[in-house]
Amino acid sequence: MTDKIKELILRLDKDRSLSLPEYEELIRDRDSEAAELLAELALKRKKEIFGDAIYTRGLIEISSICKNDCIYCGIRCSNDKAERYRLSEEEILDCSDEGYELGFRTFVLQGGEDPYYTDEILCSIVQNIKAKHPDCAVTLSVGERTRDSYQALYDAGADRYLLRHETADPVHYAKLHPASMSYDNRMRCLRDLKEIGYQVGCGFMVGSPYQTQKELARDLKFIEEFGPAMCGIGPFIPHRNTPFRDEQSGTMELTLYLLSVLRLINPKLLLPATTALGTVDPRGREKGVLAGANVVMPNLSPRSVRKKYELYDNKICTGEESAQCRGCLELRMESVGAYLAVDRGDAPGYTI
Ligand code: SAH
Repeated sequence: MTDKIKELILRLDKDRSLSLPEYEELIRDRDSEAAELLAELALKRKKEIFGDAIYTRGLIEISSICKNDCIYCGIRCSNDKAERYRLSEEEILDCSDEGYELGFRTFVLQGGEDPYYTDEILCSIVQNIKAKHPDCAVTLSVGERTRDSYQALYDAGADRYLLRHETADPVHYAKLHPASMSYDNRMRCLRDLKEIGYQVGCGFMVGSPYQTQKELARDLKFIEEFGPAMCGIGPFIPHRNTPFRDEQSGTMELTLYLLSVLRLINPKLLLPATTALGTVDPRGREKGVLAGANVVMPNLSPRSVRKKYELYDNKICTGEESAQCRGCLELRMESVGAYLAVDRGDAPGYTI
């Protein structure tokens, strides 16, 4: 590690901020020694706030039907080989009941942008989950909607919203998305969600096509300035039925490095060790926790649909039952000195 990189890391830990060119340099000139120092500091900052607790969110993949055509995604509407399904309200409620028994206190409803889920239908689902499990948080991750829609869902009881910004560079954004989608609308959504009062999660894929240190530096600066409650990052993994089928996956090494950087930018940030990270390496999620992550999102979807919510190739945990997923993660976390908390796991500073 050069003296300059060491200085940048120590300054980031102190000031929680670097300039755009400095973030770029921190990524470009990294080596294993720099990664070790970052991880050591990230772990220390994480433990000061969260101890050894890892927050869990039960992920319910409510629909693989999507009107969007994001170039990287396996459930894009142009993929006519994708198997489509949609969970009924009853099935979603059953998943949340099972999750509650297993110790989940947050449910994440994620899906493609499926026009079936009107505000009326989605509000009713949110209200019913909250009525059955008033001590739980409900997180939505169903893409871009109008401000009025986000407001209605919030009023119905949704606590949090995950919408990855995907890239903080408009030119890069346009290379990953169809012309019908826009960077400006993505950012509008994120601003609206924050203003309404949601705990907001943004995030990006590591190693997405056309991404360089320049784009990553912008992602880091954006997160520093936007101040999300959560930031989801995981390696890009190609899907065989998308135009990016021959692209390389993002690496675990760079993902871990960026997790540590994000932990130093904001020690209170909720940082998931993602399923994609567990897909590129069998111990990816454990290593993510050692690099500074403090959230895991095991799958609570009915086993019969899991294989169909296929955003990328070789996704893990598609053959297991929910209880197995939780049990497996429990052991994995214990192997790195952490434990799964039975807790809503709100972002520190947010009141219920
Ligand atoms: N429709 C929702 C949910 C999208 S899926 C929304 O728009 O927010 C959740 C995330 O999976 C996406 O935001 C994207 O960052 C990630 N993802 C999609 N395809 C991927 C791929 N091929 N490799 C890795 N991550 C992918």
